[in-house]
Amino acid sequence: MKLAKHKSLRYFKIKKDDKVMVIAGKEKGKIGTVLKVDRERHRVIVEKVNVVKRHMKPSQYAPEGGILEKEAPIDISNVMLICNKCAQPTRVGKKVIEDGRKVRFCKKCNEIIDE
Ligand SMILES: [Zn+2]
Repeated sequence: MKLAKHKSLRYFKIKKDDKVMVIAGKEKGKIGTVLKVDRERHRVIVEKVNVVKRHMKPSQYAPEGGILEKEAPIDISNVMLICNKCAQPTRVGKKVIEDGRKVRFCKKCNEIIDE
């Protein structure tokens, strides 16, 4: 139980609007912005990553039907945050700074990621 809790903490280090790199799976190497984080399922939706095509039935607005392209969620463990200071994919640490705020920091350059 304790272990599971610890493991899940890792996932809280990726937030919406973060820039991430895909490090595993068929989209490996792609970079995009996190559009949505689903903490319950440990999934993220990343802009232009894992785009799936969906065929739309003809409707009032699109009489011909059409193809809708939409990002499908990927496992959060398949992405790595890109540090906005050193611009490298990195592991994220958390620490409390002088004014008491909890911030994320880059484990590569030690710079604080959250301002
Ligand atoms: Zn860095």
